[in-house]
Amino acid sequence: TAQYSGKHITVAGLGVSGVSAARALAGLGARVTVVDGGDGEVLRERAAFLDSQGITVRLADADTLPEGTDLVVTSPGWRPDSPLFAAAAAAGVEVVGDVEVAWQLRGEGAAPWLAVTGTNGKTTTVQMLASILQAAGLRTAAVGNIGTPIIDVVLGEQQYDVLAVELSSYQLHWAPSLRAHSAAVLNVAPDHLDWHGSLDAYAADKGRIYEGNTIACVYNVEDPATERLVMAADVEEGCRAIGFTLGAPGPSMLGVVDDLLVDRAFVADRHHQAQELAQICDIAPAAGPAAPHNIANALAAAALARAFGVEPAAVRDGLRSFRPDAHRIAHVADVDGVAYVDDSKATNPHAAQASLAAYESVVWIAGGLAKGATFEELVAASAKRLRGAVLIGADRALIKQALARHAPDVPVVDLDRTDTGAMAAAVREATRLAGPGDTVLMAPACASMDMFTNYSKRGEAFAEAVRELAAGRDGEQ
Ligand code: ADP
Repeated sequence: TAQYSGKHITVAGLGVSGVSAARALAGLGARVTVVDGGDGEVLRERAAFLDSQGITVRLADADTLPEGTDLVVTSPGWRPDSPLFAAAAAAGVEVVGDVEVAWQLRGEGAAPWLAVTGTNGKTTTVQMLASILQAAGLRTAAVGNIGTPIIDVVLGEQQYDVLAVELSSYQLHWAPSLRAHSAAVLNVAPDHLDWHGSLDAYAADKGRIYEGNTIACVYNVEDPATERLVMAADVEEGCRAIGFTLGAPGPSMLGVVDDLLVDRAFVADRHHQAQELAQICDIAPAAGPAAPHNIANALAAAALARAFGVEPAAVRDGLRSFRPDAHRIAHVADVDGVAYVDDSKATNPHAAQASLAAYESVVWIAGGLAKGATFEELVAASAKRLRGAVLIGADRALIKQALARHAPDVPVVDLDRTDTGAMAAAVREATRLAGPGDTVLMAPACASMDMFTNYSKRGEAFAEAVRELAAGRDGEQ
């Protein structure tokens, strides 16, 4: 902690992680200035609060480096090409993220980190992992991109045996000295390219998670890009590459045989060919049948837990008690034999493709902000499942073009709306296109910010519209 005392530290961003970093660093004796480009009421309230704690806040200017800054601590959302970082580079000032600060603040004998990154499935996998670790009787928490800010967890009173850490590629980009016990990259698909610049740069940031691993680098056998990142990583001697696959596992892999999750990597003795871990139906049974991508997430979580020495029975118990977060393939209602499913968290094409793959016959509600992504592969892979599509949001023309090319026979309703009421209209149109046995799936493949504050609000708007529809049907009977 001595490295921060007396230093002038500029914290970029007055969000949840920025406030947490500012308070922690001030508590360690640093002189802290928080800068943010915004200037709204919420930010001013936060600024007043920090001011009362002796922390300077500068609003409405995110670009210039405060005089005398020794170190910049950035929030995850800031682009690496921000003028503030250019100014820091020009002044020879180091830039790090909140995860780097948390890593450096860990004390002697602190809990090791089991880390997860990937384009999609991070939150789900980290929560499954925490659930498994808990079932094994370990003191743990799911942290990182979710829950309590990671600096607060590291500095808090609570003692942990191990942490399940979700890391975004942004956070990895700014965490040069992080060394996980074991780590998993779930998948690498185009997303946030506007931030990282290119797919290679984005993948390289994700690959950082493997650097210095001591026990296992967990990769996705079905996504060779993740295995290439393992090969490129500089790990501790004896650290193993462990694959997970939806097919039958080879040696050093976890996979699926019939309806079982099996482990051929961490077998008890050499005479054991494979260790049974759980049944597929053990995965969050309360949420209904597991979608294929959640079987993959469960295998990744199991691999990390097994690398930490967790017994098979705890893997099964942890998967059974795991509950998915809201807006991730959440079943809202059945109306006239049609299932309505909210996957608002499918904010990129790769995620939407995974959730479409879980249904046979789908009326798809999609659209929003594309973030530089293309929809060709998603539509081509999903065309045979589509019974219809309803498009909303700013970049819907891109999806419409992909549908015209790869699914020309699928009826498409282009709503040409970006107001918040568009979701209710979309549900009505989707209902018209759907028949008994179909699923109306809102998996937009896009970010929500053109129409909603965030993906949760988008999911709530969908669920609300479905409930109104259901109530209307009840009234008719
Ligand atoms: P993240 O934290 O990486 O955003 P989540 O666990 O919140 O991931 O899941 C986001 C969405 O991504 C889900 O709603 C689902 O549509 C999709 N998804 C989840 N796991 C996977 C996976 N392993 N591969 C592809 N898509 C996935």
